[in-house]
Amino acid sequence: MNWREYVKEVTPYVPGEQPKINNLIKLNTNENPYPPSKLAKEALEKLAEDYDSLRRYPKPDCDALRDALSEYMNMSPDKIFTGVGSDDVIFVLFTTFFHSDKPVLFADITYSFYEVWADFCGFKKELIPVKDDLSIDINDYRKENGGIVIANPNAPTGEILPLEKIEEVLKFNRDSVVIVDEAYIDFGGESAVKLIDKYDNLIVTQTYSKSRNLAGLRIGMAFANPELIAKIKAVKFSINSYTMNEPSLRVAAAVLKDEDYFKECCEKVIKTREWSVEEFKKLGFVFPESKANFVFVTHPEYNANDIYAALRERSILVRHFSIERIDNYLRISIGTDEEMKALFEALKEIIK
Ligand code: PMP
Repeated sequence: MNWREYVKEVTPYVPGEQPKINNLIKLNTNENPYPPSKLAKEALEKLAEDYDSLRRYPKPDCDALRDALSEYMNMSPDKIFTGVGSDDVIFVLFTTFFHSDKPVLFADITYSFYEVWADFCGFKKELIPVKDDLSIDINDYRKENGGIVIANPNAPTGEILPLEKIEEVLKFNRDSVVIVDEAYIDFGGESAVKLIDKYDNLIVTQTYSKSRNLAGLRIGMAFANPELIAKIKAVKFSINSYTMNEPSLRVAAAVLKDEDYFKECCEKVIKTREWSVEEFKKLGFVFPESKANFVFVTHPEYNANDIYAALRERSILVRHFSIERIDNYLRISIGTDEEMKALFEALKEIIK
């Protein structure tokens, strides 16, 4: 018997690198350039004092975090599901809701994990081409489907669909689940969370990885009506009851009390983004308008991969995707003002 015949063959998602390079300016994975809230440190210190509690399993329902989010979001706890980053959450949503003969719809240029998950699960999929300017036209989603996934703002383009457009998708699609992935919503978009009571097929996902400066702790959440949440939990508890660990649960609940710091960090990122787009323009880059913590740029006269390599030589890491239609673009995360100034100094040397 040859075990190779029984292996699940998959093409995995390739995450951005986390290399060890001294003095690296890391603008490749959309992390927040500012440290987490001090309340995160306090919560970890408290946990260290109470380390004996780590003998115990965490609460499978993530009660403390769910209740803290319930208070913060002003919604009942049975509308909230949490997981190990929104990747974990969205994967559970795929495995719960998309068992249809009809295809799952998502954009051809979007978060490339959607395609990996659809293939992993063996679901039919239809990649809906974005327009030449990389924008999503929601009219392209008026077709039979087994589910719809929209990243809003979209990644890697950064473009936002106004809430009315999201609502239009929900109005003409009443029969399958619509996931709105709001990983970057806090950098200038309007959240669809306010629509979950109106549309019983809507699930909105968010994350602590970007606007809440805690990518390292892996915390994500979904908001939807209680019936959908119950279905998600049933599937999750059929895979692994205890995915979120105690430090993440405690820190995630604690930092919700530091709203001022959360807002301050988002505002700083937005301000730096707005300054950066002017600098990109001066250098001749073109890009869609971004409401995220990154900008997706291309230069009519320079090859993106060459710019990527030249920046890397200068210890500046940005993201290049070898994907048709966008292989001459770079996705550049918004860092601190100092990091962005260093980026533009380097770009001025490269683009003459
Ligand atoms: N959705 C989008 C659009 C993303 O870009 C990312 C980050 N790679 C995620 C979801 C997942 O983020 P996390 O698992 O860190 O919450």
